[in-house]
Order: sequence, then structure tokens, then C-alpha cells
Amino acid sequence: MKYVSTRGRAPALSFSEILLGGLAPDGGLYLPETYPHFDAADLAAMRKMDYRELAFAILSRLADDIPAADLKALVDKTYTVEAYSHGRPDSDFGQITPLRKLEDGLYILELSNGPTLAFKDMAMQLLGNLFEYALDKVGQDINILGATSGDTGSAAEYAMRGKHNVRVFMLSPAQGMTPFQQAQMYSLQDANIFNIAVRGVFDDCQDIVKNVSNDLEFKAKYRIGAVNSINWGRIAAQVIYYFKAYFAATANAGQQVSFCVPSGNFGNVCAGHIARMMGLPVAQLVVATNENDVLDEFFRSGVYRPRTAAQTLHTSSPSMDISKASNFERFIADLAGRDYARVAELWKAVDAGGSFDLNADGLFAKVKDFGFASASSSHADRVATIRMAWSRYQTMIDTHTADGLKVGLEHRQPGIPMICLETALPAKFEETIREALNLRPERPAGLENLEALPRRVQTMDPDTAAIQAYIARHADDPLPR
Ligand SMILES: *Cc1c(COP(=O)(O)O)cnc(C)c1O
Repeated sequence: MKYVSTRGRAPALSFSEILLGGLAPDGGLYLPETYPHFDAADLAAMRKMDYRELAFAILSRLADDIPAADLKALVDKTYTVEAYSHGRPDSDFGQITPLRKLEDGLYILELSNGPTLAFKDMAMQLLGNLFEYALDKVGQDINILGATSGDTGSAAEYAMRGKHNVRVFMLSPAQGMTPFQQAQMYSLQDANIFNIAVRGVFDDCQDIVKNVSNDLEFKAKYRIGAVNSINWGRIAAQVIYYFKAYFAATANAGQQVSFCVPSGNFGNVCAGHIARMMGLPVAQLVVATNENDVLDEFFRSGVYRPRTAAQTLHTSSPSMDISKASNFERFIADLAGRDYARVAELWKAVDAGGSFDLNADGLFAKVKDFGFASASSSHADRVATIRMAWSRYQTMIDTHTADGLKVGLEHRQPGIPMICLETALPAKFEETIREALNLRPERPAGLENLEALPRRVQTMDPDTAAIQAYIARHADDPLPR
């Protein structure tokens, strides 16, 4: 299995070769040259598998340059009941991603029972183990630099804490995360985790990461790496739970399901698209956005028009407040039938601050062949959906999951189960839950006093040079073990 760039001008590489990198050298994103395919007999065998077996069956086709015994050990170490169980005392922990039935034909796929209570743990925990393994093979260490508005940073830190060849330098806005999210990150005392609270907003953090990435000399000298949403390993890991959910929701071979996915950077739903390309019988992939509806606009009109940071609204589902959907290029490459020159041309316009329209060349007409549909929601919709789920199904959902449930309900089709993906637990977004239900969401055991724990965080100005100096001072700090 080789991976190629969506822009067609980078050498084809193996899974391990793209694991630690970001963009392809031509600015594109890596995709499998061709998708592995699971036929009816494969699917029948997979139906009987537990999460770890399924993860191995799927990843061994995507990461075929990792020896099978090593991959099996990494998967078994990652997807343990212990790592994915403190979310819900009533959940079916052994499933890793339990499927919760709301009513006939309507489900929520629980993806937030990992350590940081958001679906990003599903992929990031595996990535932590894969990074440690890959770095051991080459005898190197790495300094991961990232920017977070909340969930990504904490998922990365909890995945990398204690790793003996990884340090994490995570920039977060000093103001702007929920108190729970702040406490979750800043209370980590691990020596290889460096929290930097930037006096500014998320975009300031992201700009600093970009500046540092452009400083090639600094990057090489201090072995700077990333774990952002375009990382292929994250997408690959997310494919697994689409298969798991499918088998949990169906009894018979060939039966179809639909998924509704709360979307920001198009990472989660991109994995759903790839699962479908690999042979999973998916009727619809419904993209749910909040008021930042750049993706909904595309799936309704065929026009992709990324916004500027200033045009990006701050909403009560903040993890979906994005202006550009960084993984979208992967889907467009498939939509364009892998016409890489066409993708390069489209993103030339996007990278120059422009937009593109796929109506004239007939590409937009093909979107329905890939099962995509979409809709968006507002703060009022989220509040109403949280209330509805609580009163009708006795289920408390977070604001992002509410965006998904609202849109999923609008797209149900007779006889086809609709599976709405949960992306975080309500405890992470307490304020809106109080507004909707006048209740404080329950917290998993052990997290009751999170905000009172001692903190390990450095507050700094949004000054690239000062932050580079801080990284340089700590880039060789002793690592665990
Ligand atoms: C990251 C995140 C999303 C958006 O996921 P994408 O993969 O970027 O589309 C949605 N909800 C929550 C809670 C998240 O943390």
C-alpha cells in the first residue's frame, strides 16, 4: 500500500513514512493510492469481531508496512476497556464505542468514553502508541508543536503523556476554552507536556505554529513535529468505529445504514467516506455544521468558499468553529476521480484566499454518488435538541452532538438506521447544558474536582520569537523513563 498526494506531485510513500509528517511536499494531503476493499465474505467475518480485532483487520490493510505482530500489539495496548470506560457508568464498556439506541432506527454512537471525553481520543490514543513505536525504530525523539481551541490539545497531551520519546508543546488561548477544558490540560504534571497559554485567541496560537513551521532551520534543529487534523494516522484510526457501528446497528449482510457527523475540519466524516470507499454499505453520510457552515454551503450549492478568521463565528459548539475544512481536499480528490492536476488547480485558488465552484464541470452532480448530504444548525437548535433528547430519550448530549442529532433527524429514511456520532460528553460544555436543562452535567468519576487541581502552565504573549526561545530551552529536557 502506497500513499500519494492529492496534488499528485510528491513521491509515493508507505504508512510509516507519512506517519510523522504533515502535508506532502507539494502541499497536498496523503491518500492511499487505491483503497483496500472488503467484500461480502470479509464483512461477514468482520461482523463477529470485537473492537481490537476489527481495528487490526482494518489497519493491517492500511499500515501494511508495520509487521503484523507489532501492529496487533499496538492495537491491543490502545483499545482497552480501561482507557475507554470512565465516560459512562451505564455504557457497554467492552464495546469501546457502544451504540446507544434512542428509538427504532435512531442511534447515537458513543465515541467520548476516552480520557479527554471527546471522540478525538479514539484516534489520538493510537497515534501516541504509533509515534512512540516509529520513533523507537529510528532511535529519535520529537517535539510536537500544536495549537488548540480545546479538544485536540487535550487529546494529544493525554495520548503523549509519559511517552519516552515525545515532548508536547501545546499553545492554547489564555481565554476562550471552557473551564473544564483548561483544567483538563493545565492540570497535567507530566514532564514531557508543556502547556503554553497565549495571551490572545486561537488564531494567534495557530499563526505562531505556522510561523514556526516556516522556520525550517528551527524546525530541523529542534525536531519539531505535529499531530494536527490532517494526519493520516488519525483518519485511518477513525475508519474503525464506522465499521463497528455498522455491525452493531444491522443484523443482515448488505443492509445499509446512514451516519450523521458533526463536522469542522472534515476529519471525522472523511473517515466515514473512506469506510464507504472500502466497501461498508453506507446509504448517506450527512455532514452537520453549526453556524460556520462552509461545508453545508458546499454540499448544498457546489461552491466551496472558505472564510477568513474574522468571518468565523464563536458558537456554543466551539470545536466546529472553523473557516477552512482542512481534510476536505481528500474527498475532492475522490470526487474528481483522482484527477490530481484538477485538485491542485482548485486548491491554488483556495490557498490564494479564493473559492471554487464545481457546478460548471459536472463534478458537483457526482456528490450524490458518494452519499453526501448536509445541513446546519444554530444555538437555538442546539438548546432545543439538548432538551428534546433529555425529555424524549433521557439522554444528555453535548452541543456538538446536538448539532448532529438535529441534522440526523432531518435526514432519516425509512428502513435505514440513522447513526448520529457523539463527539464529546456534555461535561465538557457545561454552560450550554445549564442553559438548556438547568442541570449540571454529570462528570465521570475522578474528575469532580478537576478545576481545583494544581496547574502546570506557562502564560506568554503571542510572540513567536519568545515562544521559540521557550521551546529551545526545553527541547532537550529529560524524557520519562
Ligand atoms: C474536533 C471536534 C469536532 C469536529 O471534528 P472534525 O473531524 O474536525 O470534523 C466536532 N466535535 C467535537 C467535540 C470535536 O472535538
